Amino acid sequence: MERATALVQHGPGKFEFEEFTLPTLGEGDVLVRVEANGLCASDVEAYEGLDRDWDDRPRILGHEIAGVIQDMGPKSINRQGLEVGDRVCVNPFVSCGICRSCLIGDLSGCTGHVERLRYGMVPTSVSPSLWGGYSTHAFVPRNGILYKVPPSVDALDATLWQPIAGGFEWAIAQGGLRVGDRLLVLGPGQRGLGAVLAARQAGAGKVVVTGLTKDRFKLDVALELGADAVIDVETEDFVARSLELSDGEGFDVILDTTPHAVSPINDSVAALRRGGTIMVIGVKLRTLDGFPIDQFLYKRGTLKAVPGSTDRSYRLALDLVASNPGVMSKLRTHVFGFDRLGNALDVLKGEVAGENAINVVVTPDFTS
Ligand SMILES: [Zn+2]
Ligand SMILES: [Zn+2]
Repeated sequence: MERATALVQHGPGKFEFEEFTLPTLGEGDVLVRVEANGLCASDVEAYEGLDRDWDDRPRILGHEIAGVIQDMGPKSINRQGLEVGDRVCVNPFVSCGICRSCLIGDLSGCTGHVERLRYGMVPTSVSPSLWGGYSTHAFVPRNGILYKVPPSVDALDATLWQPIAGGFEWAIAQGGLRVGDRLLVLGPGQRGLGAVLAARQAGAGKVVVTGLTKDRFKLDVALELGADAVIDVETEDFVARSLELSDGEGFDVILDTTPHAVSPINDSVAALRRGGTIMVIGVKLRTLDGFPIDQFLYKRGTLKAVPGSTDRSYRLALDLVASNPGVMSKLRTHVFGFDRLGNALDVLKGEVAGENAINVVVTPDFTS
């Protein structure tokens, strides 16, 4: 009988392969055969045990899942025409549908579950255990949300739907970027680059991306993806260059994707247009000291923080992935089997000499 094999986390950096019985599917449930799982900074935090769901172990990490529908339970609900064999992306949040957050469309803020159901953050003690992407199979309950991937898009490209969805959500839906507006993206990682793609699609007037000297490779990719200019914040004067690139007015939306550092938020106030918005989406693990509140006040600025994405942004992102087939391979730099998760995360963190990582994917294969 077929069983699922999953990489199960027991402690910081401590993982073991375990087998699980495939679940019996109830009405509306779906079993996805995982093909690929994208990694992001939150995988690094979870790997090291720094995330806020740390107590919920053992668990199967991985929340950027693309795969093929292997089986479906009795169809008591409308799955928008999805059938066995369709390639899908899995919304990382399983929302209840009836709490106040869900009712205003904030699925990632759902408070309706006793156990928080976010892929990669659910202990294996919650039936049927398969709640993560570092696995051959993932379980999707009747209220789990799936997005059909067009046949022209392969599973590796499909995982990029997640960082690009963030770009739509943070820069446009929440940041309020309008046609012709200027966007400054702090940090050239996959989320920052996803924002470049989203902003171009949305008709941004100017898009500028910042990075460190060691990010040169990513800054070059930003230019290839449609950024008008890039700033190396180590060799250039960030504020002077930002103002120069925005006709002395500053940027309408500034999106901070940088992890851990708070100085980019403080520094960006000087680069903000009057009435502009600073969006914070990078986890900092520290407090914001030194924020120039008076300057921000007189600029009538907005500081906004939004984790996660909404359904609309996921859909826009999947459309963008499907309509730009050649572009995704510029973002995806590495693919590893799930037995090399540690290597994959080291590469993602930029700790492997000679490896320039943007989007790193793990697949449920054994490479060694
Ligand atoms: Zn992620
Ligand atoms: Zn809810």
